[in-house]
Amino acid sequence: MSIAHDASLISPPAFGTVVFDIDSTLTGIEGIDWLAARRSPDVALAVLELTARAMSGSLAVEEVYARRLELVRPSREEIKALIRAYIANTAPGARGLLDPLRRAGVRVIVVSGGLRESCVPFCATLGFAAADVHAVPMCFSADGSYEGFDTASLLTRKNGKPALVRAMALPRPLLAIGDGITDLEIKTAGEADVFAAFAGFIRRPAICVQADHIITSMTDVLPLVFPLTQ
Ligand SMILES: [Mg+2]
Repeated sequence: MSIAHDASLISPPAFGTVVFDIDSTLTGIEGIDWLAARRSPDVALAVLELTARAMSGSLAVEEVYARRLELVRPSREEIKALIRAYIANTAPGARGLLDPLRRAGVRVIVVSGGLRESCVPFCATLGFAAADVHAVPMCFSADGSYEGFDTASLLTRKNGKPALVRAMALPRPLLAIGDGITDLEIKTAGEADVFAAFAGFIRRPAICVQADHIITSMTDVLPLVFPLTQ
């Protein structure tokens, strides 16, 4: 029996809900950067810089969101390729972590600023129902070319993640886990009780300095949720 099984049997969970980010958290890549890398080096670099500035908080997410997608304009076929890349780069330990959380009765959901068409199939490989994956819907033309995204989505804006979390009235205490400013906002807006910065893929100093915990592996999540086992 694994440590994870033991933890869920002998210790009540410290959280009613765990909210995960996707890009650079449940998977090691940033979807929009990965898509941009299929364009010219100029586009790839521009998108990379915009993502880094948005996630460290030096540029507002809403200023960046449409600009990056307009530069890349990903097709339906490219989104399918991104799903495969997400899966190939799944965070080590993620699968072993999620089952004990669910068995212990913890509500586990995903809130991402990524593209829903890539996030839902990826998260399905980690056992998430589509209804528990919150991301930004895309629009495609009949030929599969890019047409746009849901500009009304809260997840394209500053404080969009906490607004969405608040609307769901999730069981508290709530633990939020992610690498970027939009994940930290769930805590600073009062919708998370604890924020763990995930630095296993990218360490963003501006985020880590405000985090309750800094973790570098998905296996670090279990001691947070089942603290009596430590
Ligand atoms: Mg992220």
